[in-house]
Amino acid sequence: MQVYKFGGASVATAVGIKNICSIILKESEAPIVVISAMGKMTNAFEILLEGFISSNRGMMSSSLQTIISYHQQIINDLDMLIHPQLDLYMSQLKSVLTLSIEDKEYDYWYDQIVSYGEMFSTSLFTDYLSFKGFPCKLIDAREVIVTNSRFRSADILYTESTERLSAAIEVDKVNVIQGFIAGDSAGNTTTLGREGSDYTAAAVANMLGCSRVTIWKDVDGVLNADPRIFNNCVLIPRLSYVDAVELAFSGAQIIHPKTIKPLQNRNIPLHVRSFVNPECSGSIIDDVGNKKIDVPIIIIRKNQVLLSIRPNDFSFVLEDSLQDIFTLLNRSNQKVNMVQASAVRISISIDNTPNFKKLLEELSDSYKIKYNDNLELLTIRGHYKSIQEEHTAGYDIFIKQETRRALRLLRKLQS
Ligand code: ASP
Ligand code: MG
Repeated sequence: MQVYKFGGASVATAVGIKNICSIILKESEAPIVVISAMGKMTNAFEILLEGFISSNRGMMSSSLQTIISYHQQIINDLDMLIHPQLDLYMSQLKSVLTLSIEDKEYDYWYDQIVSYGEMFSTSLFTDYLSFKGFPCKLIDAREVIVTNSRFRSADILYTESTERLSAAIEVDKVNVIQGFIAGDSAGNTTTLGREGSDYTAAAVANMLGCSRVTIWKDVDGVLNADPRIFNNCVLIPRLSYVDAVELAFSGAQIIHPKTIKPLQNRNIPLHVRSFVNPECSGSIIDDVGNKKIDVPIIIIRKNQVLLSIRPNDFSFVLEDSLQDIFTLLNRSNQKVNMVQASAVRISISIDNTPNFKKLLEELSDSYKIKYNDNLELLTIRGHYKSIQEEHTAGYDIFIKQETRRALRLLRKLQS
């Protein structure tokens, strides 16, 4: 068994849907298919959610209309005369939108509403396969991928999920399941964090002991830099799990950072291939790829804030305050991208998210904080010595960390 994961860009149009059908149906044994919401639909559902939360009827009905017309257009372009499963989930969403907010929190409602992006994409897709006469099964991730109740960044409970998922799979059919969404044991919908469909694909493969996972993207595979920023990018045909995790952590947008662990734990290779150019063999990530990569890999993570944190009472930061600081960061869901410590000061680079100001307030009770924003975290893995000059000229450098294999620095364009 193998898993194919298709992101929003691959299913954004009727042509895209026909294309992924042909990729899937080429396989002699049908893969398990994990699909994200179509195109930019998750963003559209976030606007619908804003309308719902603020009881803004106008905003709700116009965003719902945008969402429905988008899917309707694809149905028309595919000449589908019937789409019973999509109809079912459309009416399910409409009844969710009539519920009263009561004392439930934002994150709870986020998951109950935004999850319909994936319900719509997968039901439309399986309706299309059935319409064309291909045996398929729509699996509802809300019922088989069991998580805790941490809405918007839920953790998968593997034992329960494995049991339910294995029972739901029907061999000899194309099994289709939503990425990104799941359910807690009380029956509430949960989600795994934005861009979490890669993680679903990896978790499904782990639970079913699949032989591989393929993530289909609009680039040929894992490249050594972002082709939207750099010219002359090259494909890396094979890399290790460790390199892949490091790249994702540094901000490479090739895979979701949580994807590798479930695969590495069962030694399942991850293939990254292009749905635009399926002839290209792409990249393979596994533990056999553990050799030095011979081109430098360049990753830029933008919009960083560098916090400089000093205990008010001049105590040693590493001995007394480290745990406290990291607990606060974790509680406000802030991912730490770089750390540097001295006796009485710790410097931390984090993404500039809406939580950041609140975190500052909380830290200010016990610490003196200074910060610099609008920084970029540059990571170069492998052979960085000869090219570092071209990536630092014209920039102020705030922190620089070097190892034998990698250079990481925080930079800001000089004004
Ligand atoms: N549809 C979700 C998102 O856009 C999950 C995903 O695409 O992986 O964040
Ligand atoms: Mg998406």
